[in-house]
Amino acid sequence: MNRPLAAIFDIGATLVTGPPVAPNKVIAKLIDGASAADVASIIMTTELSCADGVCRAIESRYGVLTDTARGGISQLWKSQSSAAEEIDGAVQAVLKLKNRGLKIGLLSDIWAPYYDSVVKALPQVIDVADSIVLSCRTGARKPDLTNFTRVLDELGIEAAQAVMIGDTYTHDIKPALDLGMQAIWVLARPDRESESIIEILNQDNPAPTATVSHIAEVPALGLWG
Ligand SMILES: [Mg+2]
Repeated sequence: MNRPLAAIFDIGATLVTGPPVAPNKVIAKLIDGASAADVASIIMTTELSCADGVCRAIESRYGVLTDTARGGISQLWKSQSSAAEEIDGAVQAVLKLKNRGLKIGLLSDIWAPYYDSVVKALPQVIDVADSIVLSCRTGARKPDLTNFTRVLDELGIEAAQAVMIGDTYTHDIKPALDLGMQAIWVLARPDRESESIIEILNQDNPAPTATVSHIAEVPALGLWG
């Protein structure tokens, strides 16, 4: 295996945590007949700049919102804009790899206000990133390969030269392996990943290149050469 030239990080639950309830679930609860999955497909793939924009995007699907729903969305936007917190050691892990000469990519399914809070929580990571590919800007979401190939293009490297680092097997690890990347699974929430773990153990799906229990362990792995 070639010495990697780039490390591409997922953001949510890989570099940052919080809040406990996903925004699409909060919004879905405010609207009669809305499913969390449908709301996610709208808010994660639309460029939004304010709570009003969210309301308009949601209304184009579900019709006019109640005042309660509008108020709830406005409150959610505010809280999401400061909700992300660094996972201990995440910034250091990214900087260590950057200092080794690796290019840094960020590849995330994320909506606009939460990304704002990531910028506040991880300014050094944003600073050193050579490519940042977000679902809310491209309109594509994992496990679709579109954003994976886009980040590789922006970094100017081949899949075989890149390592994907993420917490979700189906969205971060499997698509990366399918493309010919290496992949480090940060198994921080094994309870959520039990199905994927079983499939790997039964050899129904490929194993990641490496698995760690915490992001801080990533720079010490042998695969960096
Ligand atoms: Mg994640």
